[in-house]
Amino acid sequence: MVLDLNIVPISNWLPNVEKPYLISGPCSAESESQMLQIARQISEYFPNNIFRAGIWKPRTRPNSFEGVGDVGLKWMQRVKEETGMLTATEVANALHVEKCLKHNIDILWIGARTVVNPFSVQEIADALKGTDIPVFIKNPINPDLQLWIGALERINNAGIKKLAAIHRGFHSFEKMPFRNDPKWELVIELKALCPQLPILCDPSHICGNPELLPYVAQKALDLAMDGLMIESHFNPKIALSDSKQQITPSLLFELLSNLSLRDLTSENLEFKNVLNELRQVIDKIDDDILNVMSTRMSVARQIGSFKKDNQVTILQITRWQEILKNQLKRGKIMGLSQVFIKKLYQLIHNESIRIQNEAMNEIGENNIKKQTPILGK
Ligand code: PEP
Ligand code: MN
Repeated sequence: MVLDLNIVPISNWLPNVEKPYLISGPCSAESESQMLQIARQISEYFPNNIFRAGIWKPRTRPNSFEGVGDVGLKWMQRVKEETGMLTATEVANALHVEKCLKHNIDILWIGARTVVNPFSVQEIADALKGTDIPVFIKNPINPDLQLWIGALERINNAGIKKLAAIHRGFHSFEKMPFRNDPKWELVIELKALCPQLPILCDPSHICGNPELLPYVAQKALDLAMDGLMIESHFNPKIALSDSKQQITPSLLFELLSNLSLRDLTSENLEFKNVLNELRQVIDKIDDDILNVMSTRMSVARQIGSFKKDNQVTILQITRWQEILKNQLKRGKIMGLSQVFIKKLYQLIHNESIRIQNEAMNEIGENNIKKQTPILGK
């Protein structure tokens, strides 16, 4: 698959802003004084910040605060006049786009709940035709990379070349420390498909609390992401939405001051040599891993035929439980993460079962005609 987006480098349209780009402001616009107070505080620390505030808020249940609506756009203009910061807000339909353009909002973003719906994204794309306003596209709530890519393509096809993606994590049913599962592997996949696409991270919506923000923000920078969107409020406790995850502008300053900015590479010769040597070691280990896997799978194939001859089922649940238990124990002693060992062995065991199934039956999964997953349609 190729993702051939026609985009302008972000440094061309955010010329005065140093990396990492920072987008901060309250989750929601609540009142003119709230906006100005937050904006003044943020701009003192970060004059180049892009000021964010949600005007129309997508809420799960009705009768919760659904944003102040149109009046907030005027407050955004006041923020811009007073502080000089660029302004950004979320749009979910054509009318929102029209109103933002009329009020000279500088950057629009499409939220996670809207990106899941191609009809809405197309409606926004159509409303954007003929403009060159920058657009950020958040990942959809569900971990479907195709849906995210589809939204980027629709907006790009409408002629928007000032484009960036925002990673805000994905809904998960698993218990985890995050409000939304970061699933960093999906961001890496997106970057590999389209290296010229800027990707920013929204640690606020990933974490859902202030405690984890430094960890996620640092990880985003270490994955060479281009910027951070972090919600900030002068008094998070009284915020009308996402009060648990917002931080004060002074905490934001502290957080950003403690982040380590690392270069994409280093010209230092010794660094290059050592890195090269270590990479050779890794390449050798990767070859060994594949050799061992290949041997393991050929033994699995033999077991498959043997079970077939003896009319025994493929899955032996107690044997699988035993393998997992033993390997988790061994992995722990060897200092490997339990989550990693579990995922690794689930993958290996799944493949073993697939191979045994192939050995037992004429039809293996590889011979079955492939279907496009429903979600990616
Ligand atoms: C937001 O940025 O306030 C927001 C609603 O984000 P998301 O679309 O990522 O949930
Ligand atoms: Mn929010």
